[in-house]
Amino acid sequence: MEKKKTFLVDERGFYGEYGGAYIPEILYGTVENLKRSYLPILESEEFRSEYMQLLRDYVGRPSPLYYASRMSEKYGCRLYLKREDLNHTGAHKINNTIGQILLAKKMGKRRIIAETGAGQHGVATATVCALMDMPCVVYQGALDVERQHTNVERMKMLGAEVRPVRTGNMTLKDATNEAIRDWCCHPQDTFYIIGSTVGPHPYPDMVARLQSIISEEIKAQLMEKIGRDYPDYLMACVGGGSNAAGTVYHYIDDERVNIVLAEAGGQGADTDHTAATIHRGRLGILHGSRTLVMQTPDGQIMEAESISAGLDYPGIGPMHANMAAQHRATVFSINDDEAVRAAYEMTRMEGIIPALESAHVVAALSKMTFRPEDVVVLTVSGRGDKDVETYLANKEMAGDYGQF
Ligand SMILES: *Cc1c(COP(=O)(O)O)cnc(C)c1O
Repeated sequence: MEKKKTFLVDERGFYGEYGGAYIPEILYGTVENLKRSYLPILESEEFRSEYMQLLRDYVGRPSPLYYASRMSEKYGCRLYLKREDLNHTGAHKINNTIGQILLAKKMGKRRIIAETGAGQHGVATATVCALMDMPCVVYQGALDVERQHTNVERMKMLGAEVRPVRTGNMTLKDATNEAIRDWCCHPQDTFYIIGSTVGPHPYPDMVARLQSIISEEIKAQLMEKIGRDYPDYLMACVGGGSNAAGTVYHYIDDERVNIVLAEAGGQGADTDHTAATIHRGRLGILHGSRTLVMQTPDGQIMEAESISAGLDYPGIGPMHANMAAQHRATVFSINDDEAVRAAYEMTRMEGIIPALESAHVVAALSKMTFRPEDVVVLTVSGRGDKDVETYLANKEMAGDYGQF
């Protein structure tokens, strides 16, 4: 029988030529065990009921689908914002950490580790560890520990141990290496909560499923609001890819729905100060996955650079690398100044201060041409409270909006 073409993961853990599990021998048994366990647990009645109850009563879901009337008028479409910024802890990341810690408990794990760059995933992990009374170690590059002081304090208050990593550039890539090293030393009792749709199979699929609550809600909310359960366009920003994966999950094989992704161009996708992995990356292996990686001509991983700490990752989830390669998604690279300007615009037109990460996809609106009847759903992945200082320090990028 001919198989239907799908953009979801295949039985080998690949998305087209991307994905797989390239891991040290010592982790083989642990990852195999996770591979065998995750689907039966995630699909069980018991998991589903605990997970949904926490999403409702603890996270505050469903997150609203808000019709942005002023921006709709400006961009000549019907623009709806999926408000992940209103979740507990201020972003979509908590959807994933709640799911993974429930899974860890059901697998009998007693200790949680995580990596973090800006600290957002570290905070979301420390939060669920406090909730579930589990010990938590977060690896963070020493440079990021300095730059992201508030999140470090939050993690400590939540009871997590933050371990600064002094190898390499002392940022996210190095923190991830250190977390993997820890995992290799404690494969039996430790669960590694990865923060995005990256890492070895089954992580990209597992994280996408845990974030797919976003598109599950979009379906029901669109039905209620417009009498049709799909939009013409779905738009999301991409760091590793988790909020985008959640936004598109239930529509990924529905060709009526166009997918638009925004990655961080930094100072420009053709400069050395960029995080535009889809535009600049070459096939390589990063953190256990075969995917696009920004690298030097001799294969060294390049440091990613963006004004937004949550998007500066030199890799990209294998699901998104494949969507881009197959032209399932249109991918824009958005520069720092465009993102800052778009954040000011959303703030002034809708009274919503988006996270710097989310501002990248807001900026992509001005690169699109819509028909007036087009229904566009754009995911606001997080709130901008953490970014207000950066916005104010860069208000000269905001054009007219920055005149104050
Ligand atoms: C971490 C983060 C992102 C980027 O991560 P993805 O896995 O690509 O979603 C985007 N927005 C916010 C608010 C974040 O905290």
